[in-house]
Amino acid sequence: MSLNTEVAIVGGGIGGLTLGLKLAQANIEVTVFEKLDAPSSVYKGELLQPKSLKIFKRLDALDVICENGFSFSRIAFEEGEKEFSMDYSILPGDYKYALMIEHEKLKGILLNQALQYPNFHYLSGSLAKGYDNGELMVERKDLKEQLTVKADFFIGAEGRNSITRKEMNSKIKKIEYNHQFLTVTFPRPQSLEEGKIISKDERFLGLFPLPDAKVRSVYLIPEGTYKEHLKKGIHYFHKNYLELFPELEGYVTRLKNWRDIQLMIPTAFYADKYVAGKLAILGDAAHTVHPMAGEGMNMAIQDADVLGELLAEMYTRGRILPDKLKWYEKVRKPRAENMISLSHLSAIAYSYSNRVITGIRRKGLKQIERDKTLQYKQMLNVSGLGYWSESLWDRLIQAGMLPARETELSAADKSHYFYTEKDDYPWKKVEQP
Ligand SMILES: Cc1cc2nc3c(=O)[nH]c(=O)nc-3n(C[C@H](O)[C@H](O)[C@H](O)COP(=O)(O)OP(=O)(O)OC[C@H]3O[C@@H](n4cnc5c(N)ncnc54)[C@H](O)[C@@H]3O)c2cc1C
Repeated sequence: MSLNTEVAIVGGGIGGLTLGLKLAQANIEVTVFEKLDAPSSVYKGELLQPKSLKIFKRLDALDVICENGFSFSRIAFEEGEKEFSMDYSILPGDYKYALMIEHEKLKGILLNQALQYPNFHYLSGSLAKGYDNGELMVERKDLKEQLTVKADFFIGAEGRNSITRKEMNSKIKKIEYNHQFLTVTFPRPQSLEEGKIISKDERFLGLFPLPDAKVRSVYLIPEGTYKEHLKKGIHYFHKNYLELFPELEGYVTRLKNWRDIQLMIPTAFYADKYVAGKLAILGDAAHTVHPMAGEGMNMAIQDADVLGELLAEMYTRGRILPDKLKWYEKVRKPRAENMISLSHLSAIAYSYSNRVITGIRRKGLKQIERDKTLQYKQMLNVSGLGYWSESLWDRLIQAGMLPARETELSAADKSHYFYTEKDDYPWKKVEQP
């Protein structure tokens, strides 16, 4: 059996669905092949950064996302007895906050919006097996026969184990870490209304408020200790959380079963190419990041935005040229690699428990809070709205070897490092209509 579509997307995760919605709105015949046939119970990314919120605004999906999410503008860092904070409100413009939304909820919103377009098709229970002679082979649960898909473009949005990346012969470079995380969502005290990262000696607990008075948590454990944690039982899990944040008494203790708690193994990798012929990869298929900076899902959304805009323009102009996919790689690959480095640095800061590293981390946080330029760079880079690289000078300030710059930046200085339309979609500046 065969199927024809203009764009075939393998994988109906956040990246595939964002791209699907964008292409549907551009009147392109798009089909998403998703292997699962029901929502997954696996925890994945839930934090939306400002750039992703801006992208969803353009897709007309932000209002419903906000109705179903929990927004906050501050993340407090408790380091022993000291407290520091990162504040999105120093960003100029409309997106001065981050938003937590349950992963499957967000997927549902994007899918429902996309299904309103008759040119959008979503085939669940469809496992893409590989490519043969430029066609995609799909095994469907409800069909005995294999489906052969012909398309102008095939987009691999199928996550870490990408068959499209394999077909493209794109190689990955991998970074591994010496720790893992336990992650779970449970009810939260009403007072927990901002992000919170608590670290004490070798311990680390991250808490991010969700709607419906829930909180998503991540607790760091050294690699290889998961079985020990399991053996010690759920009370030991409660005890660890309560020692770091006693206000969770009566909340985390409502977790009764280890089955609710998921082990998360952080890895980071990046592919050496994102496009080949009429194939392209996005999101976790192209790169994964350490979860510390809460960027994985955002990078998938941002890839989908740039790739979607490029494809939309090709179809609007009637110039379907696979060669032009290179623009997508040109914009997104360096940005993804910057983000991987940024997340990697944050991960390293929490990977070692000795006094020297803890001291450096504390000093660094204190300096970022005092130094207005460093603080802005940090927030801007995390937000995805722009990029301002950190210099050696910044590093020396962060290490306390140079004094902090305490003068506020002007609005013009701040805006200068925002990505413009031309930065996001540079082919538009080269190819005037
Ligand atoms: C277990 C786990 C936990 C995570 N936790 C966090 C976190 O706490 N914080 C954070 O910021 N990030 C986290 N991430 C990362 C974040 O969720 C991802 O970066 C983000 O979901 C990437 O979106 P994506 O659409 O590229 O890929 P995915 O979300 O992986 O979606 C890929 C989709 O493709 C489907 N698929 C796969 N293979 C095929 C195939 N052959 N045929 C058809 N369909 C296929 C899958 O079923 C899935 O629906 C986590 C990732 C994982 C895997």
